[in-house]
Amino acid sequence: MPHIPLIAGNWKMHGLSQAVSEALAIDAAARQSSARIALFPPATLLHRLSQALAEAGSSIITGGQDCHCEADGAFTGDVSAEMLKDAGAGMVILGHSERRHGHGEPCALVAKKVLGALRVGLEPVICIGETLEERLAGETHAVLNRQLRASLPEELTGQVFHVAYEPVWAIGTGHIPTDEQVVDAMVLVKSYLEERFHGQVTPHVLYGGSVKPDNAAHLLTLDGVGGLLVGGASLKAADFNRIIAAAG
Ligand code: PGA
Repeated sequence: MPHIPLIAGNWKMHGLSQAVSEALAIDAAARQSSARIALFPPATLLHRLSQALAEAGSSIITGGQDCHCEADGAFTGDVSAEMLKDAGAGMVILGHSERRHGHGEPCALVAKKVLGALRVGLEPVICIGETLEERLAGETHAVLNRQLRASLPEELTGQVFHVAYEPVWAIGTGHIPTDEQVVDAMVLVKSYLEERFHGQVTPHVLYGGSVKPDNAAHLLTLDGVGGLLVGGASLKAADFNRIIAAAG
C-alpha cells in the first residue's frame, strides 16, 4: 500500500467565483506537503484550473467529478473521459453517492465508466458507502462487498485506481463514523482488494464524509486510511490547507 497519502478536494457544484485564486492558494500548501493533492472542480472550471495550476508549476492533480463511459456520441449533457483528459484532468471521481443516489447510477454503470477512464489513463477514484438504513439493518459489509464487486470492472487488473469509502450518512452532515467503523470498512476494502488482486495493485483507500481541519489528522492515523476525500472543507484554501498540513 502507498505510504504517501492522497488528499482530494471534491468541489461538487461550487467554486465558480474564486476557483483559480483558491486553487493557487491551495497550491501554496501543497508545495509544503509530501502528500499527493488533487482537486475536482465542476467540469466547466476544469480547463481553467488545470491551466492555471500548470502555469504556476503546481503538482496538484486535477480531476472530473464524473464521466460518460463512451468516448463520444449523442449523449446530451454528458462529458467523456477523453474530454476530461483534454481539459487537463489526471483523475476522475466515479460512483459518488450523489451520482448513485441523486442520478440512480447502478454499480454496472460505474464499472463501465471506470473502463472509460482507464482507456485514457485517468486514475478513477471509485466511491462506495452504505446508507444509514443499510447500516442500521446490519447490511454494511454486504453493501460494501457488493459495490466493490460490481463497480470494479472485471477487466481491471494492474491499472492505477483508488477506492473511497464514504458512508452516505456522513456526507455533508457533520456526522463522522467511529474509529472502529472506519477501520472496519478499511479492512473490508483491503481484504477484498487483496483477495482479488493478490497484491498487484496499490490503490489509495480514502475515507470521505465530513472531513474537517479538526478531524483530518486523527482520521489519517486510523489503520488503513490512505488519504481523504473532502467535500465542503475543500472549498476554502484556509480550511483545505489545514487538512493538507495534517497529512504532513
Ligand atoms: P463532505 O463531502 O466532506 O462535505 O461531507 C464529502 C464528499 O461528498 O466527497
